Amino acid sequence: MRVGIGVDAHALVEGVPLVLGGVEVESARGLAGHSDGDVIAHALIDALLGAANLGDIGSLFPSGDDQYRGASSLDLLWESYREVREAGWELVNADCVLVAEEPRIGDVRDEMCERLAGALGVESGQIAVRAT
Ligand code: MG
Repeated sequence: MRVGIGVDAHALVEGVPLVLGGVEVESARGLAGHSDGDVIAHALIDALLGAANLGDIGSLFPSGDDQYRGASSLDLLWESYREVREAGWELVNADCVLVAEEPRIGDVRDEMCERLAGALGVESGQIAVRAT
């Protein structure tokens, strides 16, 4: 068994949808990024890739590559986990912690788990999303 840790942070900017855990959350500001800026999905990708010794999100999806501009991070998550599975590993559980002053995510946490699990092809009970 291997354990991976992923951390991500993006700036909040006006006029961009806020996507967290694959869910568009009501907010005046969203996360800047080359893709949709979904920090939860990005941290999960890095945890999966790191545990499997397959590099990180930047090595798999270079920010200079226009192919990934505006990409859904759930698609990147699916692609990353495909690499992990091809290397012979599979996810047991993922525990995602959002560190942010806002928004409150209690109402959408279950949906986030379902979206992330759906992108991975695992049961939603294998994914936990919490906020500090
Ligand atoms: Mg990121």
